[in-house]
Amino acid sequence: MIEEEMDFENRIVSPEYNYADEDTEISLRPKTLDEYIGQDKAKENLSIYIKAAKMRNECLDHCLLYGPPGLGKTTLSGIIAREMGVNFRVTSGPAIEKQGDLVAILTSLNEGDVLFIDEIHRLPRNVEEILYPAMEDFSLDIMLGKGPSARSIRLDVPHFTLVGATTRSGQLTAPLRDRFGVLLRLELYTPEQLAQIVKRSAGILGIEIDNDGAREIASRSRGTPRIANRLLKRVRDIAQVEFDGAITEQVAQKALERFEIDELGLDDFDRRMLETIINNYGGGPVGLDTLSAAVGEESVTIEDVYEPYLMQIGFLTRTLRGRCVTKLAYEHLGIAQNTAQQSLDL
Ligand code: ADP
Repeated sequence: MIEEEMDFENRIVSPEYNYADEDTEISLRPKTLDEYIGQDKAKENLSIYIKAAKMRNECLDHCLLYGPPGLGKTTLSGIIAREMGVNFRVTSGPAIEKQGDLVAILTSLNEGDVLFIDEIHRLPRNVEEILYPAMEDFSLDIMLGKGPSARSIRLDVPHFTLVGATTRSGQLTAPLRDRFGVLLRLELYTPEQLAQIVKRSAGILGIEIDNDGAREIASRSRGTPRIANRLLKRVRDIAQVEFDGAITEQVAQKALERFEIDELGLDDFDRRMLETIINNYGGGPVGLDTLSAAVGEESVTIEDVYEPYLMQIGFLTRTLRGRCVTKLAYEHLGIAQNTAQQSLDL
């Protein structure tokens, strides 16, 4: 079981959606802005824009949500639709292969709907071009036929709000990014916010947990609600089988040790990556592509999934010349830093 969890796809501390989230992902989703914990800046801005749009009886401006996976982008988009009192349609960049797919979606919307496109940076370029006039004038320019007899027709679509989600706004082309009126960056959550999320989820799932138990899970969840919810469910299993069912600090610690997640939420892969930089590249700097080859993981995954948390806790820095491991990480891993590396740190 443990071995299975350590393979990259099914890593228990992966922020990306996987089978372990299937049964509860929907029931645990907050449904209103008030229920949505943290992200105060994004929430405050959104709530003003939503009120203003409702007062004017208009659609909300198109919104781009960006930040690492599992932070609540899909959840927030659903909340936008609900607060605006409109339908919520969900799709994703890779799911829309042809222009016709997007035309079919846009023409089937009702007036005012929220269309959520996850991983919007992965939309094919020619599909993206259809979006420009749709976002700007709520119309589509469709080419009929090919060659000299080709002609274009203009089609109106209902007014709608596009909510795009991406892991990094820099991955978007400039013409697409410029067409979003609202840009909201989601940040990794603090352990206090995650503890609130864990308690809320425990309440919904009927799991008994005390404050210290929730904090213990929160501090190992890498700033990510999806991971916090997943760890809560796994810890519950252990609490039921090996203890009396309630999650206390001690129960959470025992369970998480069993999953080989340390007190900061690092797992085998994080430790291996940091150790590779230390042992093979003197602690860095090492280029992303070199690192990717050395640890056998794609560069984008390293950049979007592993690095944000390691940088947040101050274990890794990105410099112009590459990635560097910090003194804090050496200390955490119990590896002595050589003097050459120490002088680089100063
Ligand atoms: P993303 O779209 O950014 O990958 P999701 O919106 O799918 O992330 O969120 C993953 C899970 O985390 C959801 O099922 C939800 O239960 C939980 N979650 C996310 N954000 C919050 C939040 N602010 N408060 C409470 N739970 C949250």
